[in-house]
Amino acid sequence: MILQHYPFELLPLPYHYDALEPYIDMETMYFHHDKHLGSYVNRLNELLEPYPHLHNWSLERLILENRTLPEDIQEDVLKNAGGVYNHQLYFSGMSPSVTELKGKLKDALLLDFGTWEEFYKTFVEMAMKIFGSGYLWLAADDKGKLVLVPLPNQATPLSIGLTPILNLDVWEHAYYLKHQNLRADYINDWFHVINWAEAGRRYQNALLGNFLQNSILP
Ligand code: MN
Repeated sequence: MILQHYPFELLPLPYHYDALEPYIDMETMYFHHDKHLGSYVNRLNELLEPYPHLHNWSLERLILENRTLPEDIQEDVLKNAGGVYNHQLYFSGMSPSVTELKGKLKDALLLDFGTWEEFYKTFVEMAMKIFGSGYLWLAADDKGKLVLVPLPNQATPLSIGLTPILNLDVWEHAYYLKHQNLRADYINDWFHVINWAEAGRRYQNALLGNFLQNSILP
């Protein structure tokens, strides 16, 4: 298992820019991946460049052990490592292929939310309520229980001891070009392109305590 470390790279999308059409458009995907994620990658590398002892630190370690970093870069590293980590999870959490919610993740989702409809309704309500920039996260605790957690900006569930399973980016750059102010339409469209196979893999890792494998693309 090789974790990513400095110099971080802009990993290519695991599908073409237009592959999620008509739900997420090509232009949004291009700007979101190449420009938004790209600048988090560049900024993170700039911040770490003067600190060789941090050059073998993984994204997860930069986030989890953030408080031990030199104070002048601590906050900016957290924001930018979060920006890279969260976007990688977001992009690999979508797929142009139809995937199925099944297995242990499906069992847990039904156990923790009652029905699919209840899960969907709660998810949409919580994603609509996020004020300003952030993500809605489906995450698992150390017992495998699933929770929905809204987090601001580039905060990650790792920082609060949860394993990320899926994340919906509700920063306006994620949908404004196509959906403008209609976040509800974007949320509905995102549900059509969720990569349940990847979510299932991440949940398995959560159950095994292997959360470090979740940022590694399969
Ligand atoms: Mn984004």
